[in-house]
Formats: sequence, structure tokens, C-alpha cells
Amino acid sequence: MQNKEDRQKLLAQQTLSKINEVENHGTRRYPHRLNFYDKPPLGDITIEDFETCALDRLRILAEIESSFVRNRSWDELKNITITQSDKFLQLNSNSAWTLDLESQRRKDHVGHFVLRLAFCRSEDLRRRFVKAETALFRVRFDSDDGEENLEFLKSRDFGWEEVTADEVEEHFKELQTAAASANREPNPKERYCKVRWTRVPDLIEKRRVFLKGGMAYVPSREQSSIVFQEFQNSLMKSLEMTAKALPFLDEDTRIVPILNNLSQGFLAGVSSEWSTATAGSGNEITADMIDDMARKHFPACMRNLHECLRRDKHLKHFGRLQYGLFLKVLGLSIDEAISFWRRSFSNIQDDKFNKEYRYNIRHSFGLEGKRANYPAKSCQQILTSDQPGTGDSHGCPYRHFSPDNLQTALLSMYSSQGLTSADLPEIMHTVKAGHYHVACTRVFEITHARQGVAKGEGVGSGESVTHPNQYAARSRELERERDGDNGKKEDDGDVVMMG
Ligand code: SF4
Repeated sequence: MQNKEDRQKLLAQQTLSKINEVENHGTRRYPHRLNFYDKPPLGDITIEDFETCALDRLRILAEIESSFVRNRSWDELKNITITQSDKFLQLNSNSAWTLDLESQRRKDHVGHFVLRLAFCRSEDLRRRFVKAETALFRVRFDSDDGEENLEFLKSRDFGWEEVTADEVEEHFKELQTAAASANREPNPKERYCKVRWTRVPDLIEKRRVFLKGGMAYVPSREQSSIVFQEFQNSLMKSLEMTAKALPFLDEDTRIVPILNNLSQGFLAGVSSEWSTATAGSGNEITADMIDDMARKHFPACMRNLHECLRRDKHLKHFGRLQYGLFLKVLGLSIDEAISFWRRSFSNIQDDKFNKEYRYNIRHSFGLEGKRANYPAKSCQQILTSDQPGTGDSHGCPYRHFSPDNLQTALLSMYSSQGLTSADLPEIMHTVKAGHYHVACTRVFEITHARQGVAKGEGVGSGESVTHPNQYAARSRELERERDGDNGKKEDDGDVVMMG
């Protein structure tokens, strides 16, 4: 009885403290949605969480980078970032108090710090990481509730000095002139703060603030600029400090491979993984369908492997691996896979095929050896591991072909789907800048324009290609949608005619 009462008391206390926590944001570990990440997260974390939090954040940062490369407008970048965040890293405002805000914010916090470890290692990585993180912070700031932003700003010392009403009156004319040159409606009730002019170079450059005695008079509507600058500077400093401390981590055999994987993905311009959960069920396609599918739905890497296989009636080890796993995830069953490879290697006798190749195909389906069900290779893996040598046909054409060969290959692969030589300069420009997956995404858009894919739409909601199976799956989906629509239109037509 005593125990029951004690338990009830404990439960009541826990509920009360939870309510207090919700009502009094100040006592929570993460009182605000926005975070300057001054302190690292404390407490235990599993290796799995360590990696998942970072990968999910990386998907968003990679999409922000792609948006920069593609010259997307701020609104487009913002929309894509919000869509990606809803999928991988939800972060709600305090008003959504029924949700588990603490765990959302912890995931955000952990992910940020893991990526700091991965991206502090070189000047280039640091610069790109700071740029993408600052854009993410800005998207959140812009899309947050005004009241919550204000609370967040009050919680930190940004080192600005409030301008008194007397001072505003004294410089009223100059302040109005600055407002007019920034296309701001004059507002007599506008509040101002003063900071050293060096802290707001962007506002000075655009003549959006009044300057006096080395101080910039920043109206409340422009204060976010100081906040973003501060975020950027403090993150850059922290990354430089982390880089100095990093050698101590080098001996940790659990963490270092994860960090290497993360930074390699970002260097290649793509986040690590596309979930193959939505891929084929294993019985969807047959060996006979592959020629037609390659022509209509495959990205350049797989299209090239398919054409080499047809031409040489053979593929070397890494080529078979890359293409075989792709076809498996696309939906080719083990029996169909054996039939496909057997027929494709038409110069080889049955005996040799059974001895040397059948086992490997069954192995990749998890039916031999370790019995692991191997996933298909992502763009990141194709771009960064097992570099192809002479005579190899695996890899990513955007990265591994010479510029001339790439242009010839693209025209021969995709001109029947609408790609013309006029499209090549834009694609080659992206390739030269090292953004191979962005070039691949642009080719996807051009070759699917007839199915209604617009420039900038990527493989859906502005997403870039990160996995060959994602490319093929979206292409097939678009075809099904179009066929469905045509079927519907024909049905509608029948109804009209019958009427
Ligand atoms: Fe294949 Fe990815 Fe390269 Fe496109 S970017 S060709 S999908 S590896």
C-alpha cells in the first residue's frame, strides 16, 4: 500500500515538473528553437545515434549547398530547406508544446556537433560548412515566430547598445535617409541599436544604415544581420579550435571512420544515403525488361555500365558489383538476375559462368558466404571509392570521364529524351566546379521535361540526386503517373464520347 502511494506521489511530482518545464522555458535544457551551439551536448550517446543525427543534418546541408550551386533564389532555398527539415530534422517552435521538443532539439544539437568534428579538418570544409549552417540558421530565424525570436535574442548578449529616444530624434533626418535607401517604410516608432561598423559590413555595403563615429545605427528590422554575422564568426572560431583538438580523436577506431564518411560525402557534394526502403520489392522486373528500362530510366553511371556490358559481353569485378546491386535494388529477383547475367556474358561457357559468376551473384543477394544483404552503392560511394582505372567501366561518368568523352556520352545516351548540345555548357560548368550530382540532377530535369519536370525541381521537391536507384525510381514513378494520367484522359474521353 505504502509503495503504491509512494509511486503515485512520484508520478504526481514528475507530472508537475513536466508541466513546470513546459510553462517555464527558462528551466529547460533547450528553451529556444534557435541555438548558437555554444556548448557541446552532454550525456551518453550511442554510436548509432551519433551517426544518424549527423547524417540527417547532412542531407539538409547538402541540399543547401546544391541550392547555392544552382543559384536558387532565397525563397526557393528556404522552401527546399523547410521541406527537407520536415522530413529529416523537425524542429518546432515552443508553441507546439504537445510535441517532444526536447528530443527534437537534442537531435539538432548532437548532429551539429558531430558534423563540426567531421568538417573542421580543412579550410575548404570549414568554409563550406559555415556557409551552409548559417543559411540553415537563417531559414529557421526567418520562419520562426516573431515573439520567439525576440525571446531568443534577449537570451544572449549580442554586444549592441540601445539608441536612446533623444539620439533618434537628434539624427532623425539621417536615419530616414538610410531607411529610404534601404526601401524601408519610414517608421517613427522604429527602435535602433548601435554596433561597431565592422560588425555589419553587408548593411554598410548596401547603405542601409546610418554611420556616426565608427558606430552603425541598426534598426530593429535589420538586427538579424548582426545575429547571422555573429553566428558565422563564432562558428568559424569554434571550428578552428576543434581542428586543433581533433588529433586526440584520431585513435578512436569507432568514430574516425564515421567522420571520414561524413566529410567525404560533403566533399563530393552529396549527403550519404538515399533510403532504399522505397525501392523495388524484388520481383518487379524481369531480365527482358532491362534494355528498355536502361534507355528510359537509368542515370549515366548505370547506362554506361549497361552499354559496356552489351558491347563487351562482359564487365569487370567493380562494374558487376555496382551494376548488380543497382539492379537488385531496382527489383530484379535472384533468378532473373542469374538469367540476365548468364545471357549477357554470351561469350562465356556455362561451366565457367557457374564456377566464377553464379556464386558472386548469389552472394550479393545474401544467399552465400556471410549472407549479408548488401545495399546498392550511393552516389557518394561511387564518387569517392574504388576509383576506376583504364579498362574499367564503373564509377560516375560526370566525375570519371574526360570532358570530351562526357559530352559525347551524354548526347548519345540522352538526345532521344530531349538533351541537346545547347544544354551541355551549363552541365559542364557544374561538372568543372566539382558538383557532379548537381550535373546529374540537371540531366534528370532535362530528360524528364516532357513528363512535366521543371528546372530546379530535381527528383522531387527540389531534391538533388544522391543515389542511382533514387534517380531510376523517380523516373519510373513519373512514367507511371503519366501513363495513369493518359489512361484517365482516355477513360474521360470515352465517357464524353459515350455521352
Ligand atoms: Fe550515377 Fe550519382 Fe553519378 Fe548520377 S551522380 S551518374 S546517379 S553516381
